[in-house]
Amino acid sequence: MTIKLDQTPHKVQANGHPESFIFHRSQRTKPANIISGSGIKFTLDNGRTIIDASAGPAVACLGHSEPRVAQAVMRQMESLSYAYSMGYTTDAAEDLAAHVLHNRPGGLGKAIFVNSGSEATDAALKLATQYWIEAGRPSKNQFIARKQSYHGNTLGALCVSGHESRREFYQPWMSKNVTFVDPCYAYRGQGSDETDAQYLQRLETELEETIVRIGSDNVAAFILETIPGTTLGCVPPVPGYLSAMRRICDKHGILLMLDEIMCGMGKTGKMHAWECEGDFRGPDIQTIGKALGGGFVPISGVLASQKIFDAIAQGSQTLAHGHTFQAHPNACAAALEVQKIIAERDLLGNVAARGEQLEREMKAELSSLPHVGNIRGRGLFWAIEFMKDPAARTPFARGSGYSDRVVEVAQGLGLNILGTLGHTGEYHVEHVIISPPYIISQEE
Ligand code: PLP
Repeated sequence: MTIKLDQTPHKVQANGHPESFIFHRSQRTKPANIISGSGIKFTLDNGRTIIDASAGPAVACLGHSEPRVAQAVMRQMESLSYAYSMGYTTDAAEDLAAHVLHNRPGGLGKAIFVNSGSEATDAALKLATQYWIEAGRPSKNQFIARKQSYHGNTLGALCVSGHESRREFYQPWMSKNVTFVDPCYAYRGQGSDETDAQYLQRLETELEETIVRIGSDNVAAFILETIPGTTLGCVPPVPGYLSAMRRICDKHGILLMLDEIMCGMGKTGKMHAWECEGDFRGPDIQTIGKALGGGFVPISGVLASQKIFDAIAQGSQTLAHGHTFQAHPNACAAALEVQKIIAERDLLGNVAARGEQLEREMKAELSSLPHVGNIRGRGLFWAIEFMKDPAARTPFARGSGYSDRVVEVAQGLGLNILGTLGHTGEYHVEHVIISPPYIISQEE
Protein backbone atom coordinates (compact mmCIF):
# COMPACT_ATOMS: atom_id res chain seq x y z
CA MET A 1 0.00 0.00 0.00
CA THR A 2 1.39 3.39 -0.91
CA ILE A 3 0.54 6.07 1.59
CA LYS A 4 0.67 9.66 0.47
CA LEU A 5 2.29 11.81 3.12
CA ASP A 6 -0.78 14.03 3.48
CA GLN A 7 -3.09 11.05 4.04
CA THR A 8 -3.67 8.86 7.08
CA PRO A 9 -3.85 5.18 6.25
CA HIS A 10 -7.40 4.66 7.58
CA LYS A 11 -9.08 1.69 6.00
CA VAL A 12 -12.72 2.42 5.28
CA GLN A 13 -15.03 -0.26 6.67
CA ALA A 14 -18.23 -1.53 5.06
CA ASN A 15 -20.23 0.96 7.19
CA GLY A 16 -18.29 3.84 5.68
CA HIS A 17 -16.40 4.67 8.89
CA PRO A 18 -12.61 4.49 8.98
CA GLU A 19 -11.18 1.54 10.90
CA SER A 20 -9.42 2.49 14.15
CA PHE A 21 -6.02 0.99 14.89
CA ILE A 22 -6.05 2.38 18.43
CA PHE A 23 -6.74 -0.10 21.24
CA HIS A 24 -9.34 2.17 22.84
CA ARG A 25 -9.92 2.07 26.60
CA SER A 26 -13.60 1.38 26.22
CA GLN A 27 -14.74 -1.34 23.85
CA ARG A 28 -18.37 -0.61 24.75
CA THR A 29 -18.65 2.76 23.11
CA LYS A 30 -16.83 4.41 20.26
CA PRO A 31 -14.97 7.42 21.63
CA ALA A 32 -15.92 10.77 20.13
CA ASN A 33 -13.20 12.31 17.99
CA ILE A 34 -12.05 15.73 19.22
CA ILE A 35 -10.65 17.72 16.36
CA SER A 36 -9.89 21.07 17.93
CA GLY A 37 -10.08 23.07 21.12
CA SER A 38 -10.22 26.71 22.06
CA GLY A 39 -10.53 28.33 25.48
CA ILE A 40 -12.72 26.19 27.74
CA LYS A 41 -14.32 24.34 24.81
CA PHE A 42 -13.45 21.60 22.37
CA THR A 43 -15.08 20.60 19.09
CA LEU A 44 -15.96 17.12 17.87
CA ASP A 45 -15.74 15.88 14.30
CA ASN A 46 -19.53 15.99 14.10
CA GLY A 47 -19.32 19.74 14.59
CA ARG A 48 -20.58 19.77 18.21
CA THR A 49 -18.83 22.07 20.65
CA ILE A 50 -18.49 20.88 24.24
CA ILE A 51 -17.67 22.93 27.35
CA ASP A 52 -14.82 21.11 29.10
CA ALA A 53 -16.12 21.54 32.64
CA SER A 54 -13.61 19.06 34.06
CA ALA A 55 -10.59 20.14 31.97
CA GLY A 56 -10.23 16.47 30.90
CA PRO A 57 -9.35 14.74 34.17
CA ALA A 58 -8.51 18.09 35.86
CA VAL A 59 -5.62 18.73 33.48
CA ALA A 60 -6.23 21.54 30.96
CA CYS A 61 -5.81 24.43 33.41
CA LEU A 62 -5.29 26.99 30.63
CA GLY A 63 -8.03 25.50 28.48
CA HIS A 64 -7.44 24.15 25.01
CA SER A 65 -5.37 26.68 23.17
CA GLU A 66 -2.65 28.99 24.28
CA PRO A 67 -0.31 30.19 21.54
CA ARG A 68 2.35 31.21 24.06
CA VAL A 69 2.86 27.60 25.14
CA ALA A 70 3.11 26.42 21.53
CA GLN A 71 5.66 29.16 20.83
CA ALA A 72 7.70 28.26 23.92
CA VAL A 73 7.88 24.61 22.81
CA MET A 74 8.81 25.68 19.28
CA ARG A 75 11.61 27.92 20.60
CA GLN A 76 12.89 25.05 22.76
CA MET A 77 12.79 22.53 19.92
CA GLU A 78 14.59 24.88 17.59
CA SER A 79 17.44 25.41 20.05
CA LEU A 80 17.60 21.94 21.67
CA SER A 81 15.10 19.13 21.20
CA TYR A 82 16.48 16.49 23.58
CA ALA A 83 19.03 16.00 26.31
CA TYR A 84 19.67 12.84 28.33
CA SER A 85 19.28 13.70 32.00
CA MET A 86 21.95 11.16 32.96
CA GLY A 87 24.94 13.47 32.91
CA TYR A 88 23.31 16.59 31.41
CA THR A 89 20.88 19.26 32.43
CA THR A 90 19.13 22.02 30.46
CA ASP A 91 18.04 25.58 31.10
CA ALA A 92 14.46 24.43 30.51
CA ALA A 93 14.61 21.91 33.37
CA GLU A 94 16.57 24.20 35.70
CA ASP A 95 14.24 27.15 35.08
CA LEU A 96 11.10 25.07 35.65
CA ALA A 97 12.48 23.67 38.92
CA ALA A 98 13.51 27.16 40.04
CA HIS A 99 10.05 28.51 39.23
CA VAL A 100 8.20 25.73 41.06
CA LEU A 101 10.50 25.78 44.11
CA HIS A 102 11.55 29.45 44.23
CA ASN A 103 10.01 30.03 47.66
CA ARG A 104 10.87 26.55 48.96
CA PRO A 105 7.26 25.66 49.79
CA GLY A 106 7.20 23.73 53.06
CA GLY A 107 10.97 23.23 52.82
CA LEU A 108 10.72 21.36 49.50
CA GLY A 109 13.91 22.19 47.67
CA LYS A 110 14.61 19.74 44.82
CA ALA A 111 12.57 18.50 41.87
CA ILE A 112 12.61 15.44 39.62
CA PHE A 113 10.56 15.79 36.43
CA VAL A 114 9.08 12.71 34.79
CA ASN A 115 6.31 12.12 32.29
CA SER A 116 3.12 11.05 34.06
CA GLY A 117 1.56 11.06 37.48
CA SER A 118 2.05 7.32 37.84
CA GLU A 119 5.76 7.67 37.06
CA ALA A 120 5.96 10.42 39.67
CA THR A 121 4.41 8.11 42.27
CA ASP A 122 6.83 5.32 41.39
CA ALA A 123 9.76 7.73 41.58
CA ALA A 124 8.52 9.04 44.95
CA LEU A 125 8.15 5.52 46.39
CA LYS A 126 11.66 4.66 45.23
CA LEU A 127 13.03 7.95 46.54
CA ALA A 128 11.59 7.23 50.00
CA THR A 129 12.99 3.69 49.92
CA GLN A 130 16.43 4.90 48.83
CA TYR A 131 16.37 7.68 51.45
CA TRP A 132 16.11 5.19 54.31
CA ILE A 133 18.87 3.00 52.85
CA GLU A 134 21.14 6.05 52.57
CA ALA A 135 20.16 7.08 56.09
CA GLY A 136 21.35 3.68 57.35
CA ARG A 137 17.86 2.31 58.08
CA PRO A 138 17.27 -0.18 55.22
CA SER A 139 14.54 -2.10 57.05
CA LYS A 140 12.26 0.94 56.63
CA ASN A 141 10.79 -0.21 53.34
CA GLN A 142 7.05 -0.66 53.92
CA PHE A 143 4.37 1.88 53.10
CA ILE A 144 1.12 2.95 54.65
CA ALA A 145 -1.50 4.25 52.24
CA ARG A 146 -5.20 4.98 52.45
CA LYS A 147 -8.18 2.91 51.37
CA GLN A 148 -10.06 4.27 48.33
CA SER A 149 -6.97 6.10 47.13
CA TYR A 150 -5.50 6.47 43.68
CA HIS A 151 -1.85 7.21 43.01
CA GLY A 152 -1.48 5.88 39.48
CA ASN A 153 -1.74 2.90 37.17
CA THR A 154 1.81 1.60 36.93
CA LEU A 155 2.39 -1.47 39.08
CA GLY A 156 4.33 0.42 41.76
CA ALA A 157 1.73 3.18 42.02
CA LEU A 158 -1.12 0.65 42.04
CA CYS A 159 0.47 -1.13 45.01
CA VAL A 160 -0.20 1.94 47.16
CA SER A 161 -3.60 2.66 45.56
CA GLY A 162 -6.67 1.39 47.36
CA HIS A 163 -8.87 1.70 44.25
CA GLU A 164 -10.20 -1.85 44.02
CA SER A 165 -11.34 -2.11 40.43
CA ARG A 166 -8.05 -0.70 39.15
CA ARG A 167 -6.13 -3.34 41.15
CA GLU A 168 -8.22 -6.44 40.67
CA PHE A 169 -6.68 -7.77 37.42
CA TYR A 170 -3.19 -7.38 38.84
CA GLN A 171 -3.56 -8.83 42.34
CA PRO A 172 -0.55 -11.18 41.92
CA TRP A 173 1.64 -8.11 41.40
CA MET A 174 0.38 -6.17 44.42
CA SER A 175 2.97 -5.77 47.16
CA LYS A 176 2.35 -7.22 50.61
CA ASN A 177 4.42 -4.36 52.00
CA VAL A 178 1.57 -1.86 51.89
CA THR A 179 -1.01 -1.42 54.65
CA PHE A 180 -4.15 0.63 54.13
CA VAL A 181 -5.83 2.89 56.68
CA ASP A 182 -9.12 4.78 56.50
CA PRO A 183 -9.26 7.96 54.43
CA CYS A 184 -10.55 11.22 55.92
CA TYR A 185 -14.07 11.20 54.48
CA ALA A 186 -16.34 12.87 56.97
CA TYR A 187 -19.55 12.74 54.89
CA ARG A 188 -19.76 8.98 55.28
CA GLY A 189 -16.86 8.00 57.56
CA GLN A 190 -17.65 10.21 60.55
CA GLY A 191 -20.21 8.86 63.03
CA SER A 192 -23.36 10.97 63.44
CA ASP A 193 -22.60 11.34 67.16
CA GLU A 194 -18.88 11.97 66.59
CA THR A 195 -17.41 15.50 66.72
CA ASP A 196 -14.72 16.56 64.23
CA ALA A 197 -12.18 16.30 67.05
CA GLN A 198 -13.26 12.75 67.91
CA TYR A 199 -13.22 11.74 64.25
CA LEU A 200 -9.70 13.13 63.86
CA GLN A 201 -8.59 11.37 67.01
CA ARG A 202 -9.93 8.08 65.65
CA LEU A 203 -7.99 8.50 62.36
CA GLU A 204 -4.87 9.55 64.26
CA THR A 205 -5.11 6.51 66.54
CA GLU A 206 -5.61 4.19 63.56
CA LEU A 207 -2.48 5.52 61.85
CA GLU A 208 -0.44 5.30 65.03
CA GLU A 209 -1.61 1.78 65.87
CA THR A 210 -0.83 0.67 62.32
CA ILE A 211 2.71 2.06 62.56
CA VAL A 212 3.23 0.40 65.94
CA ARG A 213 1.87 -2.93 64.66
CA ILE A 214 4.20 -2.96 61.63
CA GLY A 215 7.01 -1.46 63.68
CA SER A 216 8.28 2.04 62.92
CA ASP A 217 11.63 0.45 62.01
CA ASN A 218 9.88 -1.11 59.03
CA VAL A 219 7.82 1.82 57.75
CA ALA A 220 9.23 4.19 55.14
CA ALA A 221 6.32 6.55 54.57
CA PHE A 222 2.63 7.33 54.72
CA ILE A 223 1.27 8.35 51.30
CA LEU A 224 -2.02 10.17 50.76
CA GLU A 225 -3.78 12.53 48.38
CA THR A 226 -4.26 15.97 49.96
CA ILE A 227 -7.72 16.08 48.35
CA PRO A 228 -8.65 12.71 46.86
CA GLY A 229 -10.07 13.09 43.37
CA THR A 230 -11.32 10.17 41.30
CA THR A 231 -11.92 7.72 44.14
CA LEU A 232 -13.80 9.71 46.77
CA GLY A 233 -14.64 12.83 44.77
CA CYS A 234 -12.84 16.00 45.86
CA VAL A 235 -13.01 15.53 49.63
CA PRO A 236 -11.06 18.26 51.45
CA PRO A 237 -9.62 17.03 54.74
CA VAL A 238 -11.32 17.87 58.03
CA PRO A 239 -9.45 20.92 59.46
CA GLY A 240 -6.42 19.74 61.39
CA TYR A 241 -6.23 16.33 59.69
CA LEU A 242 -2.97 16.88 57.79
CA SER A 243 -1.24 18.35 60.85
CA ALA A 244 -2.43 15.39 62.93
CA MET A 245 -1.03 12.94 60.37
CA ARG A 246 2.23 14.94 60.26
CA ARG A 247 2.47 14.76 64.05
CA ILE A 248 2.12 10.97 64.09
CA CYS A 249 4.62 10.54 61.23
CA ASP A 250 7.15 12.80 63.00
CA LYS A 251 6.66 11.02 66.31
CA HIS A 252 7.52 7.66 64.70
CA GLY A 253 10.14 8.87 62.21
CA ILE A 254 8.09 8.22 59.08
CA LEU A 255 8.08 10.28 55.89
CA LEU A 256 4.86 12.02 54.86
CA MET A 257 4.22 11.89 51.11
CA LEU A 258 1.45 13.98 49.55
CA ASP A 259 0.02 13.18 46.14
CA GLU A 260 -1.07 16.47 44.58
CA ILE A 261 -1.07 15.16 41.03
CA MET A 262 -4.76 15.92 40.60
CA CYS A 263 -5.59 18.47 43.29
CA GLY A 264 -2.41 20.56 43.14
CA MET A 265 -0.68 23.20 41.01
CA GLY A 266 -3.36 25.81 41.55
CA LYS A 267 -6.64 23.92 41.52
CA THR A 268 -7.55 25.02 45.05
CA GLY A 269 -6.64 28.68 44.49
CA LYS A 270 -3.28 28.06 46.21
CA MET A 271 -0.35 26.58 44.31
CA HIS A 272 -0.33 23.52 46.60
CA ALA A 273 -3.54 22.13 48.05
CA TRP A 274 -1.86 21.56 51.42
CA GLU A 275 -1.32 25.34 51.71
CA CYS A 276 -5.06 25.62 52.48
CA GLU A 277 -4.52 23.55 55.64
CA GLY A 278 -3.80 26.08 58.38
CA ASP A 279 -0.61 25.34 60.27
CA PHE A 280 0.34 22.21 58.32
CA ARG A 281 4.05 22.64 57.62
CA GLY A 282 4.31 20.62 54.41
CA PRO A 283 5.24 17.09 53.31
CA ASP A 284 8.66 15.44 53.00
CA ILE A 285 7.92 14.37 49.44
CA GLN A 286 5.21 15.65 47.10
CA THR A 287 4.09 14.57 43.66
CA ILE A 288 2.63 16.97 41.09
CA GLY A 289 1.32 16.44 37.56
CA LYS A 290 -1.73 17.27 35.43
CA ALA A 291 -1.88 21.10 35.77
CA LEU A 292 1.92 21.33 35.88
CA GLY A 293 1.99 21.15 32.08
CA GLY A 294 -1.73 21.85 31.61
CA GLY A 295 -2.03 18.97 29.16
CA PHE A 296 0.09 20.69 26.50
CA VAL A 297 2.77 18.10 27.19
CA PRO A 298 3.08 15.02 29.38
CA ILE A 299 4.99 16.09 32.48
CA SER A 300 4.85 15.46 36.22
CA GLY A 301 7.21 15.90 39.10
CA VAL A 302 8.44 14.79 42.49
CA LEU A 303 9.37 17.51 44.97
CA ALA A 304 11.67 16.50 47.81
CA SER A 305 12.74 18.15 51.03
CA GLN A 306 16.36 19.07 51.60
CA LYS A 307 16.91 16.22 54.07
CA ILE A 308 16.02 13.63 51.43
CA PHE A 309 18.38 15.25 48.96
CA ASP A 310 21.19 15.60 51.54
CA ALA A 311 21.02 11.92 52.54
CA ILE A 312 21.57 10.86 48.92
CA ALA A 313 24.06 13.63 48.09
CA GLN A 314 26.16 12.64 51.11
CA GLY A 315 25.56 8.91 50.61
CA SER A 316 25.69 7.01 47.33
CA GLN A 317 25.52 10.33 45.43
CA THR A 318 23.28 8.77 42.80
CA LEU A 319 19.54 8.82 42.35
CA ALA A 320 18.91 5.16 41.65
CA HIS A 321 15.79 5.84 39.58
CA GLY A 322 15.60 7.45 36.14
CA HIS A 323 14.01 7.48 32.68
CA THR A 324 15.12 8.23 29.12
CA PHE A 325 12.67 11.12 28.86
CA GLN A 326 13.13 12.48 32.39
CA ALA A 327 13.18 16.30 32.52
CA HIS A 328 12.52 16.44 28.78
CA PRO A 329 13.43 19.97 27.63
CA ASN A 330 10.33 20.44 25.46
CA ALA A 331 8.05 19.34 28.28
CA CYS A 332 9.87 21.54 30.81
CA ALA A 333 9.70 24.55 28.47
CA ALA A 334 5.95 24.07 27.99
CA ALA A 335 5.29 23.61 31.70
CA LEU A 336 7.33 26.69 32.57
CA GLU A 337 5.30 28.78 30.14
CA VAL A 338 2.06 27.39 31.63
CA GLN A 339 3.24 28.31 35.13
CA LYS A 340 4.39 31.78 34.04
CA ILE A 341 0.97 32.45 32.48
CA ILE A 342 -0.76 31.32 35.70
CA ALA A 343 1.38 33.79 37.67
CA GLU A 344 1.24 36.72 35.21
CA ARG A 345 -2.54 36.56 34.76
CA ASP A 346 -3.21 35.93 38.46
CA LEU A 347 -5.13 32.81 37.54
CA LEU A 348 -4.99 31.58 41.14
CA GLY A 349 -7.03 34.67 42.01
CA ASN A 350 -9.49 33.69 39.29
CA VAL A 351 -9.61 30.09 40.60
CA ALA A 352 -10.52 31.43 44.06
CA ALA A 353 -13.18 33.85 42.76
CA ARG A 354 -14.73 31.46 40.22
CA GLY A 355 -14.52 28.67 42.82
CA GLU A 356 -16.64 30.69 45.27
CA GLN A 357 -19.11 31.39 42.47
CA LEU A 358 -19.22 27.72 41.43
CA GLU A 359 -19.81 26.59 45.01
CA ARG A 360 -22.53 29.19 45.59
CA GLU A 361 -24.34 28.48 42.33
CA MET A 362 -24.05 24.68 42.51
CA LYS A 363 -25.32 24.61 46.08
CA ALA A 364 -28.20 26.96 45.25
CA GLU A 365 -29.22 25.20 42.03
CA LEU A 366 -28.47 21.55 42.69
CA SER A 367 -28.71 20.79 46.42
CA SER A 368 -32.43 20.09 46.38
CA LEU A 369 -32.37 17.76 43.36
CA PRO A 370 -33.55 14.23 44.25
CA HIS A 371 -30.24 12.34 44.34
CA VAL A 372 -27.76 15.05 45.26
CA GLY A 373 -26.16 14.00 48.53
CA ASN A 374 -23.11 16.18 49.03
CA ILE A 375 -21.46 19.01 47.09
CA ARG A 376 -17.85 19.51 48.16
CA GLY A 377 -14.48 20.66 46.98
CA ARG A 378 -12.18 23.62 46.98
CA GLY A 379 -11.22 26.27 44.43
CA LEU A 380 -12.09 24.86 41.01
CA PHE A 381 -12.00 21.23 42.14
CA TRP A 382 -15.54 20.12 43.00
CA ALA A 383 -17.58 16.97 43.15
CA ILE A 384 -21.22 16.13 43.55
CA GLU A 385 -21.85 12.86 45.36
CA PHE A 386 -25.13 11.17 44.49
CA MET A 387 -27.10 9.09 46.97
CA LYS A 388 -30.07 6.83 46.39
CA ASP A 389 -31.73 8.53 49.36
CA PRO A 390 -29.78 11.60 50.48
CA ALA A 391 -31.94 12.22 53.58
CA ALA A 392 -31.29 8.71 54.91
CA ARG A 393 -27.75 8.75 53.50
CA THR A 394 -28.44 5.56 51.56
CA PRO A 395 -25.83 5.23 48.82
CA PHE A 396 -26.35 3.84 45.35
CA ALA A 397 -25.24 0.22 45.03
CA ARG A 398 -22.12 -0.70 43.08
CA GLY A 399 -22.85 -0.92 39.41
CA SER A 400 -25.82 1.45 39.62
CA GLY A 401 -24.14 3.50 36.89
CA TYR A 402 -25.86 6.64 38.16
CA SER A 403 -22.92 8.99 37.64
CA ASP A 404 -22.29 7.49 34.18
CA ARG A 405 -25.83 8.47 33.24
CA VAL A 406 -25.31 11.97 34.61
CA VAL A 407 -22.11 12.25 32.55
CA GLU A 408 -23.98 11.06 29.47
CA VAL A 409 -26.83 13.53 29.96
CA ALA A 410 -24.34 16.35 30.54
CA GLN A 411 -22.46 15.34 27.39
CA GLY A 412 -25.75 15.48 25.48
CA LEU A 413 -26.21 19.03 26.76
CA GLY A 414 -22.70 19.97 25.67
CA LEU A 415 -20.90 19.70 29.00
CA ASN A 416 -17.91 17.44 29.69
CA ILE A 417 -17.63 16.26 33.31
CA LEU A 418 -15.88 13.32 34.94
CA GLY A 419 -17.78 10.36 36.45
CA THR A 420 -16.99 7.61 38.95
CA LEU A 421 -14.29 5.31 37.58
CA GLY A 422 -15.24 1.80 38.67
CA HIS A 423 -15.77 0.73 42.26
CA THR A 424 -13.21 2.07 44.63
CA GLY A 425 -13.65 0.10 47.86
CA GLU A 426 -15.67 -0.04 51.04
CA TYR A 427 -17.78 3.02 50.27
CA HIS A 428 -19.24 3.08 46.81
CA VAL A 429 -19.07 6.76 45.90
CA GLU A 430 -21.19 7.72 42.87
CA HIS A 431 -19.98 11.17 41.99
CA VAL A 432 -19.08 13.54 39.20
CA ILE A 433 -16.16 15.96 39.19
CA ILE A 434 -16.40 19.52 37.93
CA SER A 435 -13.00 21.15 37.60
CA PRO A 436 -13.02 23.74 34.83
CA PRO A 437 -9.93 25.45 33.40
CA TYR A 438 -8.50 28.27 35.53
CA ILE A 439 -9.23 30.73 32.71
CA ILE A 440 -13.01 30.32 33.00
CA SER A 441 -14.87 33.63 33.12
CA GLN A 442 -17.75 34.64 35.36
CA GLU A 443 -20.24 34.28 32.48
CA GLU A 444 -18.88 30.93 31.35
N1 PLP B 1 -2.39 10.42 41.48
C1 PLP B 1 -3.61 10.97 41.41
C2 PLP B 1 -4.19 11.60 42.64
C3 PLP B 1 -4.32 10.98 40.23
O1 PLP B 1 -5.56 11.52 40.17
C4 PLP B 1 -3.75 10.38 39.07
C5 PLP B 1 -4.47 10.36 37.79
O2 PLP B 1 -5.65 10.58 37.70
C6 PLP B 1 -2.47 9.81 39.17
C7 PLP B 1 -1.82 9.85 40.39
C8 PLP B 1 -1.83 9.16 37.99
O3 PLP B 1 -1.51 10.10 37.02
P1 PLP B 1 -1.29 9.68 35.50
O4 PLP B 1 -2.63 9.26 34.97
O5 PLP B 1 -0.75 10.92 34.86
O6 PLP B 1 -0.31 8.56 35.46
